[in-house]
Amino acid sequence: MSDVRQQPVFRFAPSPNGFLHLGHAYSALLNARMAHAAGGRFLLRIEDIDLGRCRQEYEAAIYDDLAWLGLGWEKPVRRQSAHLGEYRVALDSLRERRLVYPCFATRRDIMAAVARSEGKNGGPWPRDPAGAPLYPGLARALSAAEAERRIAAGEPHAWRLDMAAALAAVGQPLTYRRLLPDGRAEPVVAVPARWGDVVIARKDVPTSYHLSVVLDDALQGVTHVVRGADLEAATDLHRLLQALFDLPTPLYHHHPLVLDGEGGKLSKSLQSESLRDLRGRGATPGALLRRLGFAPDVS
Ligand code: GLU
Repeated sequence: MSDVRQQPVFRFAPSPNGFLHLGHAYSALLNARMAHAAGGRFLLRIEDIDLGRCRQEYEAAIYDDLAWLGLGWEKPVRRQSAHLGEYRVALDSLRERRLVYPCFATRRDIMAAVARSEGKNGGPWPRDPAGAPLYPGLARALSAAEAERRIAAGEPHAWRLDMAAALAAVGQPLTYRRLLPDGRAEPVVAVPARWGDVVIARKDVPTSYHLSVVLDDALQGVTHVVRGADLEAATDLHRLLQALFDLPTPLYHHHPLVLDGEGGKLSKSLQSESLRDLRGRGATPGALLRRLGFAPDVS
């Protein structure tokens, strides 16, 4: 499984932009159980780079709900919003290597360009694994001087990965290892190109989920990334960023998502299955653990 010289490190990394739901409980418990079984460490990381949507109230509820579930974690907890300067340094390194470029387009500009292109060719524009249209390359045509002028004028801009340049810089096929339920690991080929020129730094902060998660997992020595299947495709991109920054690649396990009664994905905006709400309706930690398939009292 993992390198025997190294103590395994697991982490649960929620975003405080809503109350945790059953799916988060499952992920947190699975990480803690796997860490315990492997004699490893369990970290909690607060992924709060979305300054507009993250709230102190939700962060407090994360600590409270996880403690209610019987979980403990190492302190201090890393809160990404306190480390924006570190992410900026990494972004600057990609800028210096010309692996990112500024993009001034709004979502509306992008959708309009996609619609124009679909109108002309009659075919659907390709989508990334999350369902968003691949970036149609609007800012690629800007000269460096023009981009500099607009940045200097204070125009809001994101930074996009130049996928072709990034793949060329790495220059070899990328793989990572997927951890199977029986403890063995199998290789997986990463295909980051399917994300296109993805946003690496948002307009409001010098980072993105993808950049921060890769840097933090390496910085915190995470050896096992255990998270929901909805993030499996993002691992291809994370693998590319690890290669660009010469960072180690953890083992990955993407667990099935906990679904609602109708088989739909749970979401933070649906309050019905939030831990808060279940607790309010009298649920006990033991009953919840049993519902999620965990034996209640082995921690
Ligand atoms: N912060 C992400 C989320 O709440 C999870 C990140 C990860 O586990 O890689 O969906």
